[in-house]
Amino acid sequence: MTPRLIKITIALLFCGVIILSGCAAQSTELSFEAMDTFMRVKLFSDNGESASLKIRAETERLDALLSTADKSSAVRALNEDGSLQNGEVADLTRRTLELCGSTGGALDISVYPLVEEWGFISRDYKIPSRERIASLLEGVDYRSVKAEGELVTLRPGMKIDFGAVAKGYLADRLSAVLDEEKTASALLNLGGTVYARGKKPDGSRWTVGIADPENSADFMGSLECEDRVVATSGSYERFFTGSDGRLYCHIIDPKTGYPVDNGVKSVTVVCESGLKSDALSTALFVMGKEKAAEYYKRNGGFEYILLTDKTAYVSDGLIGDFNLARTASYEIEAIR
Ligand code: AMP
Ligand code: MG
Repeated sequence: MTPRLIKITIALLFCGVIILSGCAAQSTELSFEAMDTFMRVKLFSDNGESASLKIRAETERLDALLSTADKSSAVRALNEDGSLQNGEVADLTRRTLELCGSTGGALDISVYPLVEEWGFISRDYKIPSRERIASLLEGVDYRSVKAEGELVTLRPGMKIDFGAVAKGYLADRLSAVLDEEKTASALLNLGGTVYARGKKPDGSRWTVGIADPENSADFMGSLECEDRVVATSGSYERFFTGSDGRLYCHIIDPKTGYPVDNGVKSVTVVCESGLKSDALSTALFVMGKEKAAEYYKRNGGFEYILLTDKTAYVSDGLIGDFNLARTASYEIEAIR
């Protein structure tokens, strides 16, 4: 290279740095409460302010649409009236019913009356009688929920809820908001469901912590990811100790009507679709470790980490992206 060429190259490089730093997206952070949890969002965007406003508005809109606790929500109206005309709810119902079907009913949105009966909505926890559980179970069957065009209909007495998929669906909707706002880099922690969009501004991938079920304020490990939704279902998230001294968690096995008690402590599912990650984290939790592995091998299209007391079952595609925390004492078993 001639001295002149070197000078030109240095000048161009210098220019490049200035242009790049001039383009560096600004960081915007916001945190708020919604969907009965605490959400934290970090955006790297020149449109941070308008993106933040739209994120809040979209989250509040979905909360008001889907929350069963909100007396004026669309889903509440559906449960009270047995039918609802609403294109978005009908579409979400159709897509969720497909996942109920593919998981053999491990995910079942019509299990809601049991979630209520055990006190997970009112927080007035109790162990229902066997008779009461058996009678409520008779009404549980996602195949009786119909979504045709914009109309959703339920069998008399049936109630549904989207608690198992709402945050994942929200992640998908917020992805569309960030497309509109031309925001390529963001980390959205929607309370147990994390959407890692693009890469960090320095070009590296996002690091998403996996909560340690023994102490959910700590991480047992972390995942490196990019353009993925990481959804976790854990028994530690909501549970109570019954009068019999046993722990009862908020995820109900639709086959028995009882809270899941199969040794699984948490399941994290990673895939591009938020709806699917959230649906499958709940479903694999219900299935337990053997059936979850079978489901993964048969269907694919996602990756997962299932934690029991001592072992972290990590699916093939995540082995290279998962790092066990130094303080954690899990054995790692690969699922291939
Ligand atoms: P997640 O935290 O995503 O696993 O969702 C758990 C929530 O989904 C619970 O709080 C219930 O509202 C609801 N739920 C519990 N068990 C099931 C199930 N087997 N299928 C569908 N929804 C469920
Ligand atoms: Mg879920």
